[in-house]
Amino acid sequence: MRDLSRRDLLRATAVGAGAVAIPSMIAGSSAIAADGPGWPSDTKFPPAQLTGRIVRPQSPDYAEASLGWDELFVHYPLVIVFAQETQDVVNALTWARQHNVALRVRSGRHNLEGWSNVDNGIVIDVSELKDVHIDTATRTAKVGAGLNQSEAVTALGEYALAATTGTEGTVGLSGATLGGGFGFLTRYLGMACDNLIGAEIVVAAGADGAKVLEVDPWNHSDLLWALRGAATATSESSPP
Ligand SMILES: Cc1cc2nc3c(=O)[nH]c(=O)nc-3n(C[C@H](O)[C@H](O)[C@H](O)COP(=O)(O)OP(=O)(O)OC[C@H]3O[C@@H](n4cnc5c(N)ncnc54)[C@H](O)[C@@H]3O)c2cc1C
Repeated sequence: MRDLSRRDLLRATAVGAGAVAIPSMIAGSSAIAADGPGWPSDTKFPPAQLTGRIVRPQSPDYAEASLGWDELFVHYPLVIVFAQETQDVVNALTWARQHNVALRVRSGRHNLEGWSNVDNGIVIDVSELKDVHIDTATRTAKVGAGLNQSEAVTALGEYALAATTGTEGTVGLSGATLGGGFGFLTRYLGMACDNLIGAEIVVAAGADGAKVLEVDPWNHSDLLWALRGAATATSESSPP
């Protein structure tokens, strides 16, 4: 990838070829409705149970678990779910919808205004999803949404690969990528979001449930482009 110009890279990532990718498990919010075949909008799901590592106000680690990077903004959530696998996110989103509870998604906790936390709501924390799979042949990486930037740089560096990240190691890779992601490599490789070529996401389904979607340039590409901060790609809107 080092021999690609940014323009070439954008072309490559738009068709999913040859770029370092940072697919992450991106948890959606109940505001996203993506009902597919078999899930009519009035479908009711069985009552959900919260799974994963659950932290509640009476838990000894609640204070640490509810703290964000910017301590000017303190929130007291009803429950924090530290997802250990995708199904935990599905269960948490379903539970939030069934109980009409506000939810936030959190990775590296570095939102400057504390927007990844909420009073009396549920925080779905993906920071413990740390899987890394690197394919050197295609120069792509599939990583868990819980990697921070330092962990991502370290993992990629072992294979002489790189992706754009910001300068603070503890910022969450998925939070930074969804927000654009600007760093020393931006002029060379584009923004972090330019390198995102696929994601596993959890979205609302039916009347009160949730489901997993795989998004990439060929499947639910509108959602991939939304994650990259753009609208649906067309030949007119693709990078020149
Ligand atoms: C000290 C510091 C240095 C920074 N340096 C840079 C820099 O050099 N370059 C740069 O571009 N930015 C920089 N930022 C900004 C940073 O990239 C953003 O604040 C980023 O959104 C933080 O992501 P996070 O996962 O750590 O935070 P979080 O608070 O966990 O999340 C941030 C936002 O992303 C959402 N989110 C996070 N993960 C997911 C997910 N998996 N699915 C869905 N939504 C999710 C959250 O709901 C929230 O709205 C810096 C911030 C700080 C505090």
